[in-house]
Amino acid sequence: RALSVQVTPLVGSASDGAVIVLHDTTDLRRLESLRRDFVANVSHELKTPLSSIKAYAETLLGGAVNDPETSTKFLGRIEEQADRLDLLIQDMLRLARIESAQQPFEIEPVAIDQAVAACIEDLRPKAEQKQITLTALPDHPQLRVKADTEGMRLILENLVDNAIKYTPEGGEVRVLWGASTVNPKMTQINVTDTGPGIPEAAQARVFERFYRVDKARSRELGGTGLGLSIVKHLVQSFGGTVAVSSPPGEGSTFTVTLPTA
Ligand code: ADP
Repeated sequence: RALSVQVTPLVGSASDGAVIVLHDTTDLRRLESLRRDFVANVSHELKTPLSSIKAYAETLLGGAVNDPETSTKFLGRIEEQADRLDLLIQDMLRLARIESAQQPFEIEPVAIDQAVAACIEDLRPKAEQKQITLTALPDHPQLRVKADTEGMRLILENLVDNAIKYTPEGGEVRVLWGASTVNPKMTQINVTDTGPGIPEAAQARVFERFYRVDKARSRELGGTGLGLSIVKHLVQSFGGTVAVSSPPGEGSTFTVTLPTA
């Protein structure tokens, strides 16, 4: 453990001596190290798109601006990188609000079938672009959970969006839900895909901020590395849990367990 020592001499007292105060600073140090890692990660994540923007602007100013085709191409790239920065900042703010409990949640019964239907409607075009079949399979359609409607939307969108993103063309994404088989007071929602799966060593880490199994691939697909971290914090705020299982060669299944309303 880490200790800090503070020694105060007893001046003017009848006997010589000193007061020694020991502070256990282990937790403080751990927090400080987490904060440093986070700042380093954020700086890196912000720098990457900014360097691209700068490089494209410099090339344009260096003469490429006179070629209309190159100009259009580079301006498009600048816009893409700016969108990426925007997404990253939005996710960071969202995570900070949830973590510091500044986000006021309105916990109420949320109908899963409606939340899933809305999510599928939003993401169907993205799935269709890759010929991915997107289906909802309720085991018990009327189930409701104790959650916040907007929070529930974010949880489902992040999980289904990831499933579509990482699953190759022609694959399948399914959302299933029903009463938990382990705890009768809980409801389980599974998002299953036929994608590449997640290696066992990475399964616990994918919920960490900025952790990605394949950094380049995640960036290429427009990921911020914060989606699952947001999911985990939201689920925990509602008194639930989230886990992933991914037997080799069988895709991934993310399981969210929330209190039944
Ligand atoms: P990202 O923005 O990179 O998708 P997330 O926090 O949502 O960040 O996910 C973290 C990492 O977990 C991803 O980069 C990816 O490596 C892995 N991952 C998440 N969902 C899936 C999935 N359905 N199939 C395979 N890998 C996944």
